[in-house]
Amino acid sequence: MTNHIAFIGLGNMGGPMAVNLHKAGFSVTAMDLSQAARDKVAAEGVPVVATTLDVIRGANVVISMLPASRHVESLYLGDGVTNPGLLASLVGGTRIIDCSTIAPASARKVASAAQALGLSMIDAPVSGGTAGATAGTLTFMVGGDAECVAASQPYLQAMGSNIFHAGANGAGQVAKVCNNMLLAIHMIGSAEALNLGVNNGLDAKVLADIMKQSSGGNWTLEKYNPMPGVMEAVPASRGYSGGFGTDLMLKDLGLAEEAALASGSPIPLGGLARNLYAAHSAGGSGGLDFSSIIKILQRSS
Ligand code: NAD
Repeated sequence: MTNHIAFIGLGNMGGPMAVNLHKAGFSVTAMDLSQAARDKVAAEGVPVVATTLDVIRGANVVISMLPASRHVESLYLGDGVTNPGLLASLVGGTRIIDCSTIAPASARKVASAAQALGLSMIDAPVSGGTAGATAGTLTFMVGGDAECVAASQPYLQAMGSNIFHAGANGAGQVAKVCNNMLLAIHMIGSAEALNLGVNNGLDAKVLADIMKQSSGGNWTLEKYNPMPGVMEAVPASRGYSGGFGTDLMLKDLGLAEEAALASGSPIPLGGLARNLYAAHSAGGSGGLDFSSIIKILQRSS
């Protein structure tokens, strides 16, 4: 049987991921609630539709890239009589790959409901940002049984270059939560160091070049500098638009706190990072890229 992919969620990440599957020669139909998101992907030649029932027509692979647990649970499990959830409408044997970053418990709940209906499901959250999504170089952190993970490889390889099988369903999400907590801590630390240097007379680019080659070097300095004008083609150099939203980072830090509570793990810096992002969001910056956290440190004049 020819495989046909239904791709659901065409935002900053899902849009370019769907385009890469299409460019790799897979048969893809894509869907998003937002007309603007659909138009962007349609402009790249990917067929788009406006409803979930239309997108799954003829599909035996479903890939989703949605904001948070509630969106994924509502999509697949439904939330009342008017929305019975997509699982009930999928044909037996359909493979589901959820790439959203959600709670590990949510991933396990949806996967076990899918399995009860004869469907297979893996969690496959990603790292690499919108640049990685566009370049097809994402890192996938996968949770699910080995057969499902192996069968999903061709799709994941069309969107990424590193695929790690972390363990059973939910394990991909645990890996992702740990990674993003560390990313938030790195971003705040880089912002703090850059701001300190600039306030003491250094040029931000010179300081970033020094730290990248020194013991403070990390991904945020290499690929995602938060100081405007230091790097081209990063959110900081376009008014913190696009990229990875502050509210999405806040969600991930909330997931880290839940995991920490559930396992009795101390995360003092993760907790502080969550509070800083919560204050930044409450100040009206929830829609800006997460590197805009540097704004809470900068002098206003
Ligand atoms: P986004 O807000 O840009 O896109 C989400 C899209 O989902 C939107 O276009 C929205 O209209 C759509 N959507 C919501 N509910 C829907 C539904 N029921 N049916 C169809 N479409 C629906 O978010 P994003 O930045 O693309 O992030 C998506 C996921 O990837 C999040 O879980 C995020 O944490 C994770 N992530 C993001 C990045 C990044 O750099 N942006 C990196 C790694 C992981």
